[in-house]
Amino acid sequence: MFANIIVDITHEKLDKIFQYRVPSHLEGELSVGAEVLVPFGKGNRETKGYVVGFSETCDYDLFKVKEIKDISRRGVVIEGRLVALAAWIKEHYGGTMIQSLKTVLPIKQKEQAKVKKRVRLLLGEAQGRQKLELYEKKNQKARARLLAALLEEPLLDYELVSKKLNITLTVVRALEEQGVLALETEQIFRNPVKSREQERKEIFFTDEQKYAIEHFWQDYQQGKYGTYLIHGVTGSGKTEVYIEMIRRAVGMGRQAIVLIPEIALTFQTVMRFYRCFGDRVTIMHSRLSVGERYDQMMRAKSGEVDVMIGPRSALFTPFPNLGLIVIDEEHENTYKSEQVPRYHARETAQARVEMEGASLVLGSATPSLESMYRAKHGEYRLLELKNRSGQQEMATVHTVDLRQELKNGNRSILSEKLQELMEGRLQKKEQIMLFLNRRGYAGFISCRECGHVVKCPHCDVSLSFHKGGKMVCHYCGYEEQKPTVCPECGSRHVGEFRAGTQQIEEIVRQRFPDARVLRMDMDTTKEKDGHEQILSAFANEEADILVGTQMIVKGHDFPNVTLVGVLAADMSLYADDYRAGERTFQLLTQAEGRAGRGTKAGEAVIQTYSPEHYAITAAAAQDYEVFYQEEIRYRELMGYPPAANLLAVLASSGDESHLEKGCNYLKKYAQLVCKGETVDVIGPAAPGISKINDIYRKVLYLKTERYDTLVKIKNQMEQYIEVNSGFNTIRIQFDFNPMNTF
Ligand code: ADP
Ligand code: ZN
Ligand code: ZN
Repeated sequence: MFANIIVDITHEKLDKIFQYRVPSHLEGELSVGAEVLVPFGKGNRETKGYVVGFSETCDYDLFKVKEIKDISRRGVVIEGRLVALAAWIKEHYGGTMIQSLKTVLPIKQKEQAKVKKRVRLLLGEAQGRQKLELYEKKNQKARARLLAALLEEPLLDYELVSKKLNITLTVVRALEEQGVLALETEQIFRNPVKSREQERKEIFFTDEQKYAIEHFWQDYQQGKYGTYLIHGVTGSGKTEVYIEMIRRAVGMGRQAIVLIPEIALTFQTVMRFYRCFGDRVTIMHSRLSVGERYDQMMRAKSGEVDVMIGPRSALFTPFPNLGLIVIDEEHENTYKSEQVPRYHARETAQARVEMEGASLVLGSATPSLESMYRAKHGEYRLLELKNRSGQQEMATVHTVDLRQELKNGNRSILSEKLQELMEGRLQKKEQIMLFLNRRGYAGFISCRECGHVVKCPHCDVSLSFHKGGKMVCHYCGYEEQKPTVCPECGSRHVGEFRAGTQQIEEIVRQRFPDARVLRMDMDTTKEKDGHEQILSAFANEEADILVGTQMIVKGHDFPNVTLVGVLAADMSLYADDYRAGERTFQLLTQAEGRAGRGTKAGEAVIQTYSPEHYAITAAAAQDYEVFYQEEIRYRELMGYPPAANLLAVLASSGDESHLEKGCNYLKKYAQLVCKGETVDVIGPAAPGISKINDIYRKVLYLKTERYDTLVKIKNQMEQYIEVNSGFNTIRIQFDFNPMNTF
């Protein structure tokens, strides 16, 4: 028996897994993550290491393999478990062991003590309520919001106030002058959530909620751990279900991690958890300093807290007895890391719960194809919440055919229907959101008369328009010239599909000169806090219409918005990758969910050149199942995930000809390695951005049924690259089941 061991994780240079013989007296005692003592190096210095796996055979010289000396600590410590998880990440996503270790282990870094600001309420309850009424009467929304929050919680982190409550410093200063509050500064403020005990509003679970909770709980009590997918429409009470599940797991002395996309990590969400878990909950987000993040990790490790809420990286919280991981909005792209190791939080969470004997709960209104596929194949248990917990209705959705608009002589990006509904809303002083679901840099070519889109004949994704009149496939590199007339109907109205938020803003201002319009996109949010300022202005009803990209449809609730317009659903529908349909369905569903969050009913208008496309019809009907069935058929037909697995090999170099040669060698090598297996090697293609800062890029795609086949190929490629000096000038990165094309 041999053990694979990571030696001395504090050493930067060590990036190898070493094999040691397991002495007979330790057989059966060692498990993955165990901390051991091994002889290391020429002098056989006694060194600490962690077991990351076992094997029956030895990959090295049998006579040179050394033997493990002893276990250094009985039982598996949390570092050991995380090191084992790092080994799993390296194996499944590529990159070096050090990169993986840095991802999972909290790193201690020295840094300057930072000054923190807090806002403290100075008024008593009665005085405060009086003041609040006054603000409300004067329609001073920001002031009212801040005071209401302080009445719930008299001491607030200033970050929370500015970022999550969208309150500007001016407002805080104004209230300070009135003697309502004090702005205090303090050195290092260790717990980012601080509050007093709070009464929770009493919840009587709906039957669907009860079923989900009890189903989970019966398994859990028996030690039957697994992965659950909660498919529940927005407002169906998923968060309440998570809280109850966590409450029960915590009751058994276990801890829980809740992953939430950063943008949805709002003050309100945190407070809901806070009301249940009080000081035993903490949060992690990108605005905390490195030191504060480290502090939160240590608090978790020492047992000071039971619940950690945060984005992707909170997954690696070193809880000593982890019992549950919840991933909310599990379909979100941000759960996939964009840096090496390019891990997916969902899969990595599953690996972690399996290693540690815990359960995983995924939740979404529009589950990823991956998760639903696994649920339907019995790998995950599906729990459905089909109804909203309250009385609120889903929005009424209208689909507008833009080809018809053109025929009717309307050349504006605002359809007749949308203009009519907007006028009504403006009269009633209700708010409107106009949403441009644009993404990335690539424009596709389409016909405005018949809606035809030019696609790659091999990959069935839209071709991207590149400068110089070429259209290129970002998977296989296929190219053709841009047509001058529509290949389908012969119309001359064929060209690059483009529309910008700025143009839209101008059009809207011209059409509705009296309306107050705000725009939110990359340009208007460049400044620090630009994002928050626009949202808070809109929340305060300082504008009637908000025009923006997808950043406006996520994570924010505006109760006075009763109309949402999606101006050109095709912009995401014909993006250059196989997830375009899925992303469109999710965005449209989310956009529809923005209309009518308050007490008033909402409407949504979806404008498109492809009203018959299943992603559009299913989103308009708010029917996930119909979408899923169509989409999975396409993925199966074309061999895309989750029906198959895809590995992107991204190569980059400052030397274009080296890169070209290297990629061709790599392709030949991959084909050689896969002999006997059915693996498609596609490309190399030029990515959408083929050169960044004078570094050239190319990408190869490998497509096959089994993930472990791809892992095997990746491992062999890594060795091939390491031993061939020709690759010295080329950087290679792997991305398994990438979220986008490169
Ligand atoms: P989701 O996470 O699915 O969007 P939430 O958990 O946020 O849904 O629920 C939406 C709203 O309904 C919240 O204000 C929540 O407190 C409330 N809610 C959820 N379930 C119930 C229930 N059974 N009884 C009363 N209110 C509920
Ligand atoms: Zn046409
Ligand atoms: Zn192609």
